[in-house]
Amino acid sequence: ENRINLLGYSVDALTMEETINKIEQNIKHKSQTQHVVVNASKTVLCQKDKELNKILNECKVVNADGQSIVWAAKLLGKPLPERVAGIDLFLNLVELSETKGYNIYLLGATEETVKKVNSVLKQKYPDLNIVGYRNGYFSKSEEQDILEDISSKAVDMLFVAFGSPKQEKWAYRNLSKTNALFCMGVGGSFDVLAG
Ligand code: UDP
Repeated sequence: ENRINLLGYSVDALTMEETINKIEQNIKHKSQTQHVVVNASKTVLCQKDKELNKILNECKVVNADGQSIVWAAKLLGKPLPERVAGIDLFLNLVELSETKGYNIYLLGATEETVKKVNSVLKQKYPDLNIVGYRNGYFSKSEEQDILEDISSKAVDMLFVAFGSPKQEKWAYRNLSKTNALFCMGVGGSFDVLAG
């Protein structure tokens, strides 16, 4: 296994390319996978937040997005091959989805932002199959509709942008209900893409 224990949680010692291969294998084998990136702020958060800590330890793929984590790993004698930034991985997976025909769903940020991300991605990746998008401000009662919408679309990759730790907790609680094969928390990436 490529998993190392670091600062109280596990991280996969994988390069960007190996990470993408692992995600694709899990999709092929229909093994529902939650992905999380760790950085300095999440390291601090999970000292106090046991639920987040547990989630980090249970996610099937965990990458270090942050040079500080890469340095810490080196100092602790458990080197990581490279930093895998969340936004880079997100865009690589979007590109892969266009090539391989995986469908994707975008959930999070404001309506204006997610709508913009939908059009930016469609323009950049004309053959990309975005089966749905939805803003990240919904009530408990609306949540059921969202889950049914995602579930009915047999989503390959679900990208969730609620910020941390909200997105990690939401994905952990709801992954099986969404039926999505892969789910990744992308934090502020939608805002970045919307410009
Ligand atoms: N957000 C959301 N629903 C919420 C709270 C936040 O959709 O209930 C969105 C917010 O609009 C922004 C993102 O989540 O697009 C948070 O990004 P931030 O940069 O705070 O996340 P980080 O990368 O720091 O985890």
